[in-house]
This record gives sequence, C-alpha cells and structure tokens, in this order.
Amino acid sequence: TVQKKLLTRIPGAQYGGRHSCTMLPGGGIGPELMTYVRDIFQYAGCPIDFEVIDIDPTSAGNDDLDYAIMSIKRNGVALKGNIETKSEDIDATSRNVALRNELDLFVNVIHTRSFEGVPSRHKDIDIVLIRQNTDGEYAMLEHESVRGIVESMKVVTEENASRVARYAFDYARRNNRKRVTTVHKANIMKLSDGLFLEVANKLSKEYPEIEHNNMIIDNTCMQLVSNPKQFDVMNMTNLYGTIVSNVICGLIGGAGLLSGRNYGDHYAIFEPGTRNTGTAIAGKNIANPIAMLNASVDMLNHLGHREHAKVISQAIHQTLVVDRIHTPDIGGNHSSTDIIENILRILSKKRVHWNHD
Ligand code: ATP
Repeated sequence: TVQKKLLTRIPGAQYGGRHSCTMLPGGGIGPELMTYVRDIFQYAGCPIDFEVIDIDPTSAGNDDLDYAIMSIKRNGVALKGNIETKSEDIDATSRNVALRNELDLFVNVIHTRSFEGVPSRHKDIDIVLIRQNTDGEYAMLEHESVRGIVESMKVVTEENASRVARYAFDYARRNNRKRVTTVHKANIMKLSDGLFLEVANKLSKEYPEIEHNNMIIDNTCMQLVSNPKQFDVMNMTNLYGTIVSNVICGLIGGAGLLSGRNYGDHYAIFEPGTRNTGTAIAGKNIANPIAMLNASVDMLNHLGHREHAKVISQAIHQTLVVDRIHTPDIGGNHSSTDIIENILRILSKKRVHWNHD
C-alpha cells in the first residue's frame, strides 16, 4: 500500500523525523572538518541535530569520555575526529580505543576505492578491509614484569574472531563479492593468530560460494603495493588492520579521502579511515575534508537518510572527479574551503527533503 511504501522510506526517527547524533570533533583538524560537515548538512536540509562533545586531551580523568559514551548510547551513532591523549599519566589509555571497547564496536570497515582523477600508484582498486576493532594488540595490557623487561598482551578470543569473520563473509555475500582473504602471522603466533585463522577457516564452510584464502601479513603488504587488484574483502586482527588500511589509503591518495565505519551490535561510529589527528596542518585551511565528508555520508546512509546521503555524495564526487578541486595532499592547490564552497554550490541547485521522490 501507499502508506506502507511511505513508511519504509521514512528513516527511523527519534524526534519529529529528526535524528540526534553525537559529534566528537577531537583534536587537530577535527574541529574544522566538523564545521564543514555542519555547514553542508544545514545547506542540504539533513534532519540531523548534532550533540557536540569536546574531550579535553590534557585531563587525567575520564569525565568527558564518560559523557561522550553516554551520549552515543542515547543517540546510537556518532561522527568522530581523532581524540588525543596528552595526559602525563603513564596509565592514561587512548580514548579512541576506550570508546570502541566500551561500546563494543567489534568491527571496522574501510571500503578503499580509487578515485578517478586523483593521482595514485594503482588504478581501479576496490578492496573492503574488515578489521577486528577491539582486542588483539590493542588490549592495552602491558606491564614491566621485572626491570627492563616489558610484556604486552595480544588477546584473540574465539568469540570476537568469529564475529568479525562472520561480518566479513556476510558482507561478501550481501555485496556480491567473490573472495575473503584472512590476513595473519600464524606461522609465528601459532596460538593467537592460529585461532583467528582457524575460526575463519571453519566459518568459511558456511559460505561455499565465496572463496576463502589466507595470507601472511608481511607478504600481504608486499602484494598490496605490487598487485593490489588480487584483493577483494580482507579479514584481519586489529594491528594488521591499521597497518594495511594505511597502506591501501596511501595507494589511492592518502589520509584525506576514505572514511571508516565502526560497528557493534548496538552502536556505530563514523570517522576518517586512517584516524589521523593532523595536528601539523590544523588551522591552515589545507586539510582535505573529503574523508570526514564521506564519513558523514556513511552516517546518513546508516540512519536511512538515503536521499540526503546521495546528493551529498554526488556533490563530493563531482567536486573531486569532475571539477577537480583538490587540496595539496593529493597534488592540488585548492584550500579546504574551496572544496566546501564548491559542494555548497552544487547542493544549492538540488535541495532535498526526505519525502521527495
Ligand atoms: P599526530 O597525532 O602527531 O597528528 P597521527 O598519527 O594522527 O599523528 P598525522 O600526523 O596526523 O598522524 O597524519 C599523518 C599524515 O597524514 C600527516 O602528514 C598529515 O598531514 C596527513 N593527513 C592526515 N589527515 C589529513 C587530511 N585530512 N588532509 C590532508 N592530510 C592529512
């Protein structure tokens, strides 16, 4: 019926058709990038109200972080820059890691695609990197057992290895992908990476239409720079994930382009894929805003605001590929605000509202 059709088109809403979302600008270029997102959302009429939370990087306590976590639990989603930890306290842990752990955001997804017209080492890359996001080498369990000897724990659990592998195979199935490659170092870390690989091997049997292979992390890095087109969907532990995602982002044009998505069973956080702070380029109007804008589009899609996501995404694409307004990190000489102004110009011709066809 017409009513049913309408209902499926209306995004699940919180208040009067609008969504309330947490915004964590973080340090470095985070705040300026968030200003751009807000300008664009306002211009496109996105039904989003941001709850902005600044986390003081120098504070020893965790009050700001607790407040941020409470806000995300209430809103379900957040858009995020990179939060710095500047406390002198040696026990101060990364707030970014703490946030992911507290919200149990067990998987990080980065869809790495080449952008036409952006200078890069390889063309036509299309790799979906799926990374375990909460344990592994990021367990933050380090201690000095005796003076001069430090131990650091890498934790692999069957449950989390299984959740991330399941996500990778389901993703491949849903998106018509052909192959999942599990990346590991099980020849050396026989128990931890061994378990990660074993779990993926076992699960792969439930997905007979998807090819599953595995590759050792060092060879993966070499293959990525020499022959990246062999990769389709990749499944890996936390530290390998951050390294490999940076390698791939480097291959297609750097830190300023791709977004990353963090999911758990209940919450989601959207952010630039390589999670850089960009302290050195802050306030200079040269940071590439595309990665954060792509993260904001991911968030709109996640919330079901597909029309808004589509027009903003098309405006980003036109700016980058057709109009070729590029910041210095990808070889251009335009400023961040040149990009935003161009996007706003495009949007001014196509305002949308959620119930437009
Ligand atoms: P720090 O905390 O010291 O800033 P980091 O690990 O977060 O370090 P960065 O130095 O911020 O990493 O980023 C790595 C490189 O990527 C830097 O050369 C930075 O200028 C560049 N970079 C990161 N984000 C962007 C962006 N949006 N646009 C252009 N360059 C970027």
